[in-house]
Amino acid sequence: MELPTYIKEVRQQLLADEISWREALECLQEATKKKKPWQYKEWRQERAILIKDSCLQCGISAESVPMVLQHLWQPRKLAIIFDQLTTAKIAANADLRNQYIDSLKKNSKKLNNIVIGDRECCPKCESTSIKFLKGSQAWKCSGTKSCKTITGYNRKVTCGNLFKEPAVRKELTPEQKREISKIKQDIWSKACVKFDEKSIRESHGKQAILESIQDSERYYSLKDTTTFCKKCAYLMDIKKLLLCPNCNDFLPISHVLICSPIMFIH
Ligand SMILES: [Zn+2]
Ligand SMILES: [Zn+2]
Ligand SMILES: [Zn+2]
Repeated sequence: MELPTYIKEVRQQLLADEISWREALECLQEATKKKKPWQYKEWRQERAILIKDSCLQCGISAESVPMVLQHLWQPRKLAIIFDQLTTAKIAANADLRNQYIDSLKKNSKKLNNIVIGDRECCPKCESTSIKFLKGSQAWKCSGTKSCKTITGYNRKVTCGNLFKEPAVRKELTPEQKREISKIKQDIWSKACVKFDEKSIRESHGKQAILESIQDSERYYSLKDTTTFCKKCAYLMDIKKLLLCPNCNDFLPISHVLICSPIMFIH
């Protein structure tokens, strides 16, 4: 059958930019909820003409089991269409964004002028998490490192070293670390605005809906159908199996597509 009138109307309005792709999507979803393809009179009439009196896969006769008009092709989900249209562009956008981030970091005066100073640390593990204990007149290290246990789990172990004189190492202060992460965060936000991913998807909305309608048109046309018995239809739809004519066994659809592609040619 032809596309239902409401879908044709939506397509026309969308092509003429009278409605946005989101409005088109809403119309389509609303209408499909109310009426399924097989509830149309034309669909039922065409089905009656197309359906054969035996299963075209296993050969069983309609006298023994009910037959169904089986679709060998399914319309793509909208999310899949969006992915197909935008994945490469989104990846290229991400590359450009990362290059931009790198150049901003490289040219950031603030980032490049941070001086790493000397800090007192534990002579054993070099952690700067050390504290002077007045009572015992010694320094204590509370630095931790993660160790693998015999069973393979990561466990945090505290150093606990007691010492009289701290060693010295070059390290950023906590304030400097916070400042750096704030600068990096700002650079990231700026880059995400400049190389916006959402706008890529948004700009492909119209095309995605049009392709989705095209898929529906093919589905409604019933041209990719064949006659299956209930069992063969169930095995295909639920178990994703087809009877491979070469191997004479029910095997995954992906196998049959390669072993006997003729099944899908009409
Ligand atoms: Zn069958
Ligand atoms: Zn230590
Ligand atoms: Zn096979």
